[in-house]
Amino acid sequence: MSKTIAINAGSSSLKWQLYVMPEETVVAKGIVERIGLNDSIFTIKYGEDQKYETIVDIADHDVAVKMLLDQLIDLKILASYDEITGVGHRVVHGGEFYDRSVIIDDEVLKNIEDLAEFAPLHNPANAMGIKAFKHLLPEIISVAVFDTAFHATMPEVSYLYSLPREYYEDFKVRKYGFHGTSHQFVAQRAAEMLGKPIEETKIITCHLGNGASITAVDGGISVDTSMGFTPLAGVTMGTRAGDIDASTLPFLMEKLDLNINEMVDTLNKKSGLLGLSGISSDMRDLEANSDKPEVRVTLDIFADRIRKYIGSYVTVLNGVDAIVFTAGIGENDAAIREQIINGMSWFGCEIDPEQNAKRGEDTVISTPESKIKVFMIPTDEELVIARDVEALRS
Ligand code: AMP
Repeated sequence: MSKTIAINAGSSSLKWQLYVMPEETVVAKGIVERIGLNDSIFTIKYGEDQKYETIVDIADHDVAVKMLLDQLIDLKILASYDEITGVGHRVVHGGEFYDRSVIIDDEVLKNIEDLAEFAPLHNPANAMGIKAFKHLLPEIISVAVFDTAFHATMPEVSYLYSLPREYYEDFKVRKYGFHGTSHQFVAQRAAEMLGKPIEETKIITCHLGNGASITAVDGGISVDTSMGFTPLAGVTMGTRAGDIDASTLPFLMEKLDLNINEMVDTLNKKSGLLGLSGISSDMRDLEANSDKPEVRVTLDIFADRIRKYIGSYVTVLNGVDAIVFTAGIGENDAAIREQIINGMSWFGCEIDPEQNAKRGEDTVISTPESKIKVFMIPTDEELVIARDVEALRS
């Protein structure tokens, strides 16, 4: 039986999902947390709500991967290492090198490591995961699936910043965009729900999770997206500021006696929903406190920024067939979806409250009369990884 494992490696974690392919059935999934620290947490979920959990010290990603594969054999989820026929890795930054998923050879691995300059928190961790699997399964194909790849098709007019051109030429400073796997997946699904070939569709995808980004997809191709050189740009996020006037930085650095790293840390970790509300970065906490004035305005700002991106992308696309909501907030928060869309009635966009209250499955949440369709589509980045491995394996 052919089994593919989809990996999302962080600096101290390894999230994974094991598929039987080409059936696309998930047979087990889990996470190893606190790698390199004391009391690492190792969890496998499998079968009918069965769970294996242990707390031991796991020194590094190599140890984590060996423990994972051996435990899968112990639990009889795998017969042997040989049953794994492909490993897919989520890689955050592919720079200008990759506009699609690729088989990882030495050159690809080196490029991923070199791109650490652009994604210092993510690419080195992704590379650790890749190397750990390569050590244990040297003969098995491994594939890199990049967060940036879907956006590599953006035209110059979208990806160039209005900075001296040599900053792009010399240092590759430009918009890259992220969450590409998710935007691509839900755009494809939305085209199916529209009943049209994706080449004939104009879709705006809203990935609203802890990190959030909006993408304009024209004929299946990303033509603009709200995140930028890093995932700090765009709409208001859990702890990230999104777009702000760059001149606020030197002003605040002087007032607060902060250096540039402290300032950027504030923009990444103490801003957004957390900074505005003073309560939490988690949307569930904010919804539970929405009667508080500072929380109400936080929610209003979140919806406002998303609505403004959608409005500008209607212009970029010169029309739109469907708007899609996905990820933690986009899939679960009916109130925010309604607030965003209710401000767009002029476009002919109308939410159906009954449909909008539904959870779980792909759902049309606009009224039958709505000129623009609005969809809620659960994203599945792991499945895209497994599919890309399967496609490159054959
Ligand atoms: P993600 O990064 O995709 O896992 O999304 C995380 C975000 O989704 C957090 O802000 C959560 O509060 C939010 N979220 C998850 N479930 C719900 C829910 N039922 N209602 C509102 N927000 C939710």
